[in-house]
Formats: sequence, structure tokens, C-alpha cells
Amino acid sequence: MLTNDKLSEWDRENFFHPSTHLAQFARGEIPNRIITGGSGCHIEDRDGTRLLDGFAGLYCVNVGYGRPEIAEAIAEQAKELAYYHAYVGHGTEASITLSKMILDRAPKGMSKVYFGLGGSDANETNVKLVWYYNNIRGLPKKKKIISRWRGYHGSGLVTGSLTGLELFHKKFDLPLTQVVHTEAPYYYRRDDLSMSEEQFVQHCADELEALIQREGPDTVAAFIGEPALGTGGLVPPPAGYWKAIQEVLDRHDILLIADEVVTGFGRLGTMFGSDHYGIKPDLITIAKGLTSAYAPLSGSIVGDKMWKVLEQGTDENGAIGHGWTYSAHPIGAAAGIANLKLIDDLSLIQNAGDVGAHFKAALQAELGDHPNVGEIRGEGLLCAVEFVSDRDSRTYFDPGDKIAYQVNAALLSRGVISRAMPQGEILGFAPPFCLTRAEADEIAGKLGESVREVLG
Ligand code: PMP
Repeated sequence: MLTNDKLSEWDRENFFHPSTHLAQFARGEIPNRIITGGSGCHIEDRDGTRLLDGFAGLYCVNVGYGRPEIAEAIAEQAKELAYYHAYVGHGTEASITLSKMILDRAPKGMSKVYFGLGGSDANETNVKLVWYYNNIRGLPKKKKIISRWRGYHGSGLVTGSLTGLELFHKKFDLPLTQVVHTEAPYYYRRDDLSMSEEQFVQHCADELEALIQREGPDTVAAFIGEPALGTGGLVPPPAGYWKAIQEVLDRHDILLIADEVVTGFGRLGTMFGSDHYGIKPDLITIAKGLTSAYAPLSGSIVGDKMWKVLEQGTDENGAIGHGWTYSAHPIGAAAGIANLKLIDDLSLIQNAGDVGAHFKAALQAELGDHPNVGEIRGEGLLCAVEFVSDRDSRTYFDPGDKIAYQVNAALLSRGVISRAMPQGEILGFAPPFCLTRAEADEIAGKLGESVREVLG
């Protein structure tokens, strides 16, 4: 077996790590952390350190680590048939069964599932399907996609453009011109603090209307949003937001893409975020929770309205010119089936809702009165704590202070993983759905200690 030192050396010499400060890593300022195993909500590294994973990997290991049911389903599929493609009507029992299981769980009005590998490629598919749809309808100018500042939709060329975070644009010549951004539904950070929630929702709808008018309604094809903002700050929308947005979109024949990569299959305590907020999407992006990350698999769920038009297009023009070698990969599909069964059998969505409410209350009890905690927010098992230098004025800390990073490190030293979100002093939690109340209390208690260590 390789020594830790040898692995560490090979790691720094050979491995290009994503979303990592490359120079700091090369200089050894970022430690290697080599993960070897996991069970339930815990992972273990090569030094034998056991950590409570408060972010479920990258909010994806929803059923928790070490589930033999999924591992066995993957092994069986690999032995029987590891791969066949899905082009020209081909499929496997696993891919066909999983598409039915997804549609049985999806919000009303959805028609078909197109499979990919990750959230970014699924959103790439969505944008192409929107363009294809409007080309078939004879609307070649109607192509722009509206996204929100602080939205996260991937890091490809078009999906990195949809993502509304500067880090993903800077030095990559993004966003592409077909993508425009509108205001995030971030009530806590509204410009005018005297606005009520209702007024702020109207303001977001008015901003969207104004943007559509500036761009020209006949040039705007679709709007994309996460039901509750994820990577951009873990922000549930204010009440009535989605209804107001949907009204604007309907007025201008603009499609709605619900990016449910994080919220799909239970994270908010409901099967889909669209159910949770009464959203009626034309396309839904799914990934992470579809297999709980036991194998890479994503999907674009296409609504009835679009499907009817897409079908006409293939009649006229031949096969749709869009496909991945690994679309509907049988191993991913087998993992997806076993994962969705486990979610049902263990009532994990119910648990995400119940333990999520308990966790938020525990965070509130622990930190609600702290002068540097501006907001504790969340829905189900998607929660955040936002730090401010002054609570009343909501003043930001100096960016160099890196408060969320410091608290994250203090918490890690106590054996709990959280995530310092990429923009703002926001610490995020999105644990596996099998989190117990005792584990929720442990995270909240250790977070309290960590915040007091960093901020007093
Ligand atoms: N959409 C959302 C809402 C996401 O959170 C993510 C990933 N964090 C993606 C898309 C992109 O998924 P992937 O990293 O699998 O490409």
C-alpha cells in the first residue's frame, strides 16, 4: 500500500483539482485530504479521522454513505451489462425503468426524461432544447436565456454563463451574449430595507419585466432558476416569488427551467422544489440526488408543451442532433433505481423535512442572539448562517476577513464539515437525509463553539 507521503506527492505532481487555488495547492498551503470510506453521515480519511459531513459531499450523497443496496445494484448491472448506448431507440431495463420512476415522482405536466451525466451537461441540454424548440416554432430570434445573479447552473460555457457568480465568469470571457441576468430573490440583502416581503417580490417581478422589455420579448426564450438558491447563498425565496415570476414569463411566452439539481428528490422535505413552491416548469434539471452520487447521472425532464413541439421537429428534420455516448448509462440507471427505492423505503424525504426543521431551530437556539449572525435561514436540509459585522445595518465584513472560511476551519477541527459559500460570509449546511436529531444537535453545538472561537 502506498504511504500517505507518496500519495500526497503524486497528488501535487499529477492531479489537477477542480475549484482549487492552484498556486496555493502547489505550494502545499492547502492540505491533501484523501478520503477512504464513509457510513451514514460520516466519512473517514486516510489518517483515520472521522468527520460528520454536514454538506453530503457537494450536497449530493442524499441517502448517506456506504449503502450496500446501491453498491450491489451497481455491481449486478456491471456484471450483466455494463454499457450499451441509448441512440436510435436502444435502451436497457434499468434506463427504461428509471425514466418511469422519475416521471411517476415528477410534478404534473412532465412528459419525458433525457439522461446525461452531471448537472452542467443537463443544463446544456436544456438550453439546446429551448433553442431547438423555438427554431421548430419558426421563432429563430427568440433565444436569450435569463438567469439570476447568484444562481448556480454549472461551469461549462453556456452553463457557466447562466451561473450568476463572478468567479465563474472572470478570466473565462463569460457570460456568453445569449445569457442575461436579473435580480436574485434575496430578501435579506434587498437594497431598500423598508420594503416588505410582498413589495420586494413585486420589485423582483418588475425588474424581470423591465429586463425583458429592454432585451425585447421576442428575443427572450427562457428563464432558469433554482427553486431555492443554492451555491449563490442557500436562500429560500420570499413567499409569492415564483407565482409573480411565472406571471411575467407567461405574459411573454417565455419558458421556465427549474434547476432542481440540489432540490430534486427531497432536499427541501418535498419530492421536488417545484412542488414545494408551486412552480410549473417546462423543463426540470435533475442530477445529484438522482443517484445520491453513487454513480454520475443527470436528466432533463421535458414538459408536455415542449415535447409536443420537439416531436414535430424530428419528423421534419431527421434525428435530433444531440446525444452523449453515456446518455442513460446502465450503471448510473441501476444506481438511480436503488437510490429512489431507498428514499421511499426509509421515508428519507419525510426525515429531511422533520430533522431539517429541528436543525434550523437548534441553530437558532445556539446562534440566534449572536451579534455577528445576521440571518439563519433554510428549508428542509438546506440551511445557511450569514455573518455580518453589524447586525442592525447588515454591514458586510471586510472581504479579507474571510469569516465563513475561519468558522468552517474551526468547525472542521471539531470534526464537522460545512461549506463556506463562494460569495459572501455564508456558511452552508446540506447534510445527508439520514441525519438524526442528535447529529443535528451536534452540528449546531459545535458551530456555536466555532463561531464564539472566531468572533467572540
Ligand atoms: N445546477 C445546480 C443547481 C447545481 O447546484 C449544480 C452543482 N452544484 C449544477 C447545476 C452543476 O452540476 P455538476 O457540477 O454536476 O455539473
